[in-house]
Amino acid sequence: MTVKTRFAPSPTGMLHIGGARTALYAWLHARHHGGQFVLRIEDTDKERSTDEATQVILDGLKWLGLNWDEAPTFQAERIEKHKQAVQQLINNDLAYRCYCSREELDDMREAQRAAGQKPMYDGRCRHRHDEKTDQPFVIRFRSPTDGETIVDDQVLGAVHFQNKEIDDLILMRSDGSPTYNLAVVVDDADMGISHVIRGSDHLNNTPRQIQLYQALNLTIPTFAHIPLIHGADGAKMSKRHGAVAITDYKKQGYLPDAVVNYLVRLGWSHGDEEIFSRQQLIELFDVAQVGKSASRFDTQKLDWLNAHYLHTSSANALCDVVQEQLDFSTSTGPELTQVIAALQERSKNILDLAAQATMFYQAPASYDAKAVKKNFKEGTTAFVESYIEQAQRLPEWEKEALHQLISTTCEKFEIKMGKLAQPLRILLAGVPVSPPIDLTLSLLGREESLQRLKQGLAQLSNAS
Ligand code: GLU
Repeated sequence: MTVKTRFAPSPTGMLHIGGARTALYAWLHARHHGGQFVLRIEDTDKERSTDEATQVILDGLKWLGLNWDEAPTFQAERIEKHKQAVQQLINNDLAYRCYCSREELDDMREAQRAAGQKPMYDGRCRHRHDEKTDQPFVIRFRSPTDGETIVDDQVLGAVHFQNKEIDDLILMRSDGSPTYNLAVVVDDADMGISHVIRGSDHLNNTPRQIQLYQALNLTIPTFAHIPLIHGADGAKMSKRHGAVAITDYKKQGYLPDAVVNYLVRLGWSHGDEEIFSRQQLIELFDVAQVGKSASRFDTQKLDWLNAHYLHTSSANALCDVVQEQLDFSTSTGPELTQVIAALQERSKNILDLAAQATMFYQAPASYDAKAVKKNFKEGTTAFVESYIEQAQRLPEWEKEALHQLISTTCEKFEIKMGKLAQPLRILLAGVPVSPPIDLTLSLLGREESLQRLKQGLAQLSNAS
């Protein structure tokens, strides 16, 4: 069987971490089996669907590298197909008109509650044959009343539902719009979906959908319901727990490989391993191995993975993402890849790296007063001037020689290396933080370094 999975988000809210994990699992399952992964935007709720939310879905999946096959399907464009399916059910006496008003339904439920019963539609229009054309009606599915429907779930195992507990589902609203359960069945069948992978919040819909597949004589796909993600405190994931739009993780300096690696482990494991390349994931992942229990979101682990990917990626691979965070051109300064190589091990995330990279392209606008006070003592100007003096005479402006010169200057003045390196850093960067001073100087180049050192020294001596 050819595996074809889909991700079917409703663009009514932002794609967040839970939705992204569902998409990732569906993508991985398809790629593992050499199948297809497609995207269906479930935009039938026109009032609540927004273009912005659709854009976040597309941007978010692209950012995570979850490429989809075929052009995305927009569910609202398939309404005729949904209507045809409803008509087929009506023709086969498997669906009927229900004229019950909202008040009538409310009274019915109220009476059921009062009698200690579960509130559900009691099927009172099932046997009606009078066609009241002037009154609004919905179309309901004539669902089986006895026996059971079994969801043979790849993650949860066999889940049994008693048919008498399932009431007659509305297939089409009084305005002629199809409902979710009908549309999803028609679309999944038409699109040839072999595996429906989605959050376990949809499990209760699945017996209804299975009954519809049967009534429409369609092949039932394999279902896999993924347990939900909870916040670190065990409560349902909310904004407070970081349930923000997936694209915000990009803005916060996370790398897509880190987010993918993090998401996959929220519910799936392979021994004790934590780090997986995308290729390894494609080789190893199967949705049937997803665990049954809910997982907990853990920002610390995400940060840890992000740092891992930041420290181990090639500087070249990071160039574009760092450049995106910079609001200035790097063409007049050192090669960005060299700056990244100098900084990546020392950075927490891409934002941090970009902030640290700025000093290589912009001279300090001011000097950290506390750091100046701490590091500029009596004699400091003399050490720095001596260093500048010697450095300008170096035949080659390169790391080894610049380092050697720091050592000899420190020996000459009988001072520890920090007594010279920290003031140099402050003059070059405005703050006492930078990669090793010899590397910083060599990256900045002779002209820029000397200019910053001299200007800075003049400015600080004037101020004191
Ligand atoms: N559109 C549904 C949602 O966003 C998902 C439908 C499905 O996966 O079957 O929750």
